[in-house]
Amino acid sequence: MTGKERRGELVLITGPMFAGKSAALIAQAAAHGPDALVLKPAFDTRDGAAVIASRDRTRVEALAVADWPDAAAGRTVLVIDEVQFMVPPHYAGDIVADIGRAVAAGARVTVGGLDTDYLRRPFDTITRLSACADRHLVLRARCHICEQLAMWTAKKTETGKRLELGDDDLYEARCEEHWTEPAR
Ligand SMILES: [Zn+2]
Repeated sequence: MTGKERRGELVLITGPMFAGKSAALIAQAAAHGPDALVLKPAFDTRDGAAVIASRDRTRVEALAVADWPDAAAGRTVLVIDEVQFMVPPHYAGDIVADIGRAVAAGARVTVGGLDTDYLRRPFDTITRLSACADRHLVLRARCHICEQLAMWTAKKTETGKRLELGDDDLYEARCEEHWTEPAR
C-alpha cells in the first residue's frame, strides 16, 4: 500500500451561527459510534467540558482540548467542532497542520466552524482548511428578520471581542439584505 492510498479524508462543514453545524457533526459522530473521537476547543465551555450539544437537542461526548490530544493517535474517525476557536492563546500549535497530519495518517476528519466572524471577516483557520478539504459542505441558517436563507452572523451588541461565546442572547443569523454591524 502506498502513502497515497492510506490517506484519509477531510470534510469541512461551515456556515453562520444557527445553521445546524453542530447537529451535522453529532450525526457524523453517531454514525461511527465508539470509533469516533469528538474534539471541541477547551475555550468553549457552554455545554460543560465533555459534550457537544445542538440546538435540536442532540448531543455527543467530546474531549475539550487546548492542543492536539494523544487520544487522537491511531483514530480512524475524528470529529471537531468550533475549530475557529482552536487558535492561540486557546490552542497550542497549528490546528490546520495537526488535522493535516491526521488525514495523512488515514483518518476521516470532519471539521465544523464559522466561516466568517460577525463583521463578515473570514476566519483564517477555515480559509486554510477549505483549501485542503476533500469536501466542503456550506450550510445556511434562516435570517432572524425575514426567514430567508442567511449566510452571515450578526452580533447584537459590540463587545470588541472577535472570539466570544454566545447564543441568541448575543448573535443572530442574517441574510445579505438584513446583516448589520452591531449596535454600539
Ligand atoms: Zn433577511
